[in-house]
Amino acid sequence: MLSKAKFTAVLAIIAGMFPNAHGELESDTPFQLLIATILSAQATDKGVNKATPKLFASYPDAETLAIADIADVESKIRTIGLYKTKAKNIVRTAQMLITDFGGELPHDKDLLQKLPGVGRKTANVVLGDAFGIPGIAVDTHVERVSKRLQLVKQSATVLEVEDKLMKVVPEKDWVETHHRLIFFGRYHCTARNPKCQTCPVLPYCKFGEKLTHES
Ligand code: SF4
Repeated sequence: MLSKAKFTAVLAIIAGMFPNAHGELESDTPFQLLIATILSAQATDKGVNKATPKLFASYPDAETLAIADIADVESKIRTIGLYKTKAKNIVRTAQMLITDFGGELPHDKDLLQKLPGVGRKTANVVLGDAFGIPGIAVDTHVERVSKRLQLVKQSATVLEVEDKLMKVVPEKDWVETHHRLIFFGRYHCTARNPKCQTCPVLPYCKFGEKLTHES
């Protein structure tokens, strides 16, 4: 397993590679970020960004989306995987925001997770990016990179990855670190064909060493 000191050194290298890592979902308000993040489950940010301008032009806020016709919402997001379920979830989310939360997004992880389609990862993304509340959202990239670097054991759950990252990264750096790990996983340590041959992290990475020796 990678020690905290070595992981800190790795994070410094990754920070140098992606100093401006940031959330890539496009939105104008915390509400729109919440909706875009719900839509991004098992879909790419790029695909979501293609669909949301049309959706937000008709339904820019909770008030308008809460009374939307589901069929019309579906037609606007049908290019996104699982669009039927997601259409129901986002309309129901808007309705709950109006009825249970006075039309405002709760600034609380547990309350946010009461909304349909909102899991821990989505709640962390919205709290961090919309309100600056520290959290580490573990998506597929963060999980893969953490496991390849042996920060956690291969069988670790998403929650265990999140716990470990919160232990080894100072709280003030959680949101930034989450974005940097996502960029590193999305653009460098990709699921297929990671760029191990040119990876500055290779000296710390047994997975990469094995891959480079095999090739
Ligand atoms: Fe990822 Fe390869 Fe770099 Fe390891 S050496 S972090 S597997 S790109």
